[in-house]
Amino acid sequence: MKLSLEVFPPKISDGVEKIYSCLEGLAALRPDFISVTYSAGNASKGLTREVCVCIQEKYGVKAVSHLTCAGATKESLQDELKKLKDSGIGALLALRGDLVGGKKIFSYPHATDLMREINAFGGFEICGACYPEGHVESGSVYDDCTTLKMKYDLGVRTFLSQLFLDNADFLRMEERAKKNGIDADFAAGIMPVTSATGLIRMVGLSGAKIPNEVKEMIDKFGGDKVAMKQAGIEYAVKQIQGLQKEGCGHIHLYTMDNAVNAKTICDGAGVFEK
Ligand code: FAD
Repeated sequence: MKLSLEVFPPKISDGVEKIYSCLEGLAALRPDFISVTYSAGNASKGLTREVCVCIQEKYGVKAVSHLTCAGATKESLQDELKKLKDSGIGALLALRGDLVGGKKIFSYPHATDLMREINAFGGFEICGACYPEGHVESGSVYDDCTTLKMKYDLGVRTFLSQLFLDNADFLRMEERAKKNGIDADFAAGIMPVTSATGLIRMVGLSGAKIPNEVKEMIDKFGGDKVAMKQAGIEYAVKQIQGLQKEGCGHIHLYTMDNAVNAKTICDGAGVFEK
């Protein structure tokens, strides 16, 4: 089974070194790639590109740089694409992004617009986002499938999914996509629920629904940090093993920059090629 990992970049003020020990732990898991988030409009001034370079040059792992188009101009995108190419980054997760404060998105309303710009620039492998329960702005999961087809026709062959807590949602999305001629690698986005507050935050951001099993887990362990973390890791392991049994071939683990948890999950799942 393929494994990809996602990290947040440190801020410029913290320096790229801040993430070295985390990357060392993650690289030891021998992932197929590590992707690095990018804040829309680079509002949080993160070191996305610098971390990608470090992943490739210091740790010998393929890096995928997230890139957003919300609020970007043609000029700013061309500039960033040139810097990425000059830095040896060959793969991008092309996203629309969400501007803070719900500001209007002018030049590029959709990720597909960014994908067209990247294709015109040339020389990049493009990955796209997908949403097992549908994107919050989509009328239905079928509208989302039309979006996936547009991304596929623009060359996307790897889709990284939004986190989900019920495997059935991911499997149904993949099946809908395949029926629509989208013959791509769908990576299942797994985020371990290691605290009750973390769950509330991630559900708020993603709109993911909470299965009864997870609600019961929070009721039982929510007040005990250690037990909650253990239960959350066990749930993630169970999700991964369940997905493998259903034929899913790629897990995208949201590491939250915690290499220890990532290793515990990967070792526990016991399904990744080394
Ligand atoms: P789009 O594909 O543009 O989709 C947005 C909505 O528009 C959907 O409803 C879609 O169906 C619809 N749509 C898309 N294209 C068209 C079209 N051509 N015509 C009509 N409708 C269309 N955000 C960040 O800011 N930084 C990150 O690093 C980041 N990483 C992420 C990683 C993953 C794996 C995922 C799943 C999401 C990530 N996000 C990130 C969040 C993402 O930016 C938001 O979910 C955003 O709201 C949508 O981005 P998108 O690329 O899916 O947009």
